Amino acid sequence: MTVGDVNATTCGLVCAHHHLYSTLARQVPGPERAPRDFLDILNSVWWRLDRGLDLEMIKWSAMLGAVEALCAGTTAIIDHHESPHAIEGSLDVIAEACATVGVRVVCSYGVTDRHGPDGAARGIEENRRFLSAGGRGMVGVHAAFTCSDDTLAAAAELAEAHGVGVHIHVAEGDADAGHWARLAELATDDWLLVHGVHLPDDHGLAGTVVHNPRSNMNNAVGYARPTRFRNPVALGSDGIGADVVDDFRIAYARAREDDVTFSADTAWGWVEASRELVPEVRADVVEWSRPMGGPWDLAFTTGLTPRRVVIDGEVVLADGLPTKVDIDEIRARASEQAVRLAAAMAALD
Ligand SMILES: [Zn+2]
Repeated sequence: MTVGDVNATTCGLVCAHHHLYSTLARQVPGPERAPRDFLDILNSVWWRLDRGLDLEMIKWSAMLGAVEALCAGTTAIIDHHESPHAIEGSLDVIAEACATVGVRVVCSYGVTDRHGPDGAARGIEENRRFLSAGGRGMVGVHAAFTCSDDTLAAAAELAEAHGVGVHIHVAEGDADAGHWARLAELATDDWLLVHGVHLPDDHGLAGTVVHNPRSNMNNAVGYARPTRFRNPVALGSDGIGADVVDDFRIAYARAREDDVTFSADTAWGWVEASRELVPEVRADVVEWSRPMGGPWDLAFTTGLTPRRVVIDGEVVLADGLPTKVDIDEIRARASEQAVRLAAAMAALD
C-alpha cells in the first residue's frame, strides 16, 4: 500500500543513504574549536571519529541505528561505512547487527586514498570479500576528491563484476565540487550519487541522486535543489537517524523555502524512489499510530510512529517496541561504546 490510502498500514520505508557508524557521534564530545566549513567538519569530526572505531563500537553503533530505524518504520537501510583502523570484517558486523534487530541493510565500505594505497586496497578488498560471500551490498567509495582515478576505476570494476552499483558521495561541498566529471565514464544507472549539491543541472552522470536535506543544512553546503536533475531522486539521512517520514518533512520544508510552489507530492516521490532501491520493502508491513492521509497530510504531521512492523514475514515490532532485541539494553551498550570511542579519539594524533 502507499500513502494516499486513508488507513494506517503501508509497506516499508527505505533510508537511501545512512552511516550506521555515526550513531554514537552525538554522545561523543565535539571538537574544541567550532568547524568553519565542510572540509573542516570532515577533518575535525568525521575523520577523527572513523579512525577511533573498532568492531565492538561498530556493532553497537549499528544496533542502535538499526533499532531507531525500525522504530520509525524504516525497514531497509542503505549503509555507507568507513572505519580505517577496523576495515576487515566491518561489513559483516553491520549486517549481523541489522539482522539481529530484523532490519534489512545494503552494506558498502567507503574506499578512499586518504590512508594511502594500502588503505584503498583494503577497502576494495572488504567490499569484494563481503559481496563474494553473498552479502547484500554495493561497492562504497568515499568521494572522488579523496580517491585516485585508479581507485575509482577499481571500485567501478568490482561493482560491475558483482552486478551492483557504486555508493559514493558526489559534489557535497566546495572541496568536492569539481571532481564529479571524473565519474562521467564510470557511473551507471545502479550507482547512488549522494548529495549532488554542487552538480551542474546537466551533469549527465547516470545513477540515482540521493538527497540529504537535513545533513546539507547542518553542514551549510547549500541546497541541492533536486528537481533540477533528470536522475531519479531518493532520500537519505547521511547518518542523522533513519526516520524517512521526518526526512521527507525536512525535504519538503527546505524545498518550500526555495520555491513556495513546490508540492509535497514531489517530495513523496523521492520516498517512493528510495523504495525502488530495495524493492523487497514492498512486502513489509508497517501499521502506524494514525491514518496515513497522503503527502500533504504527512508534511504537516509530526511524531508519526509505527505500532507494528513485519519485515520479511517476521513481526519485528509490536506495540511500538522491537520484538527481537531489548532497546534499553542497546541504548546502554551503545553509551558504553561511545565512552570508549571518545577515549580512542582523544588518543589520536
Ligand atoms: Zn554520507
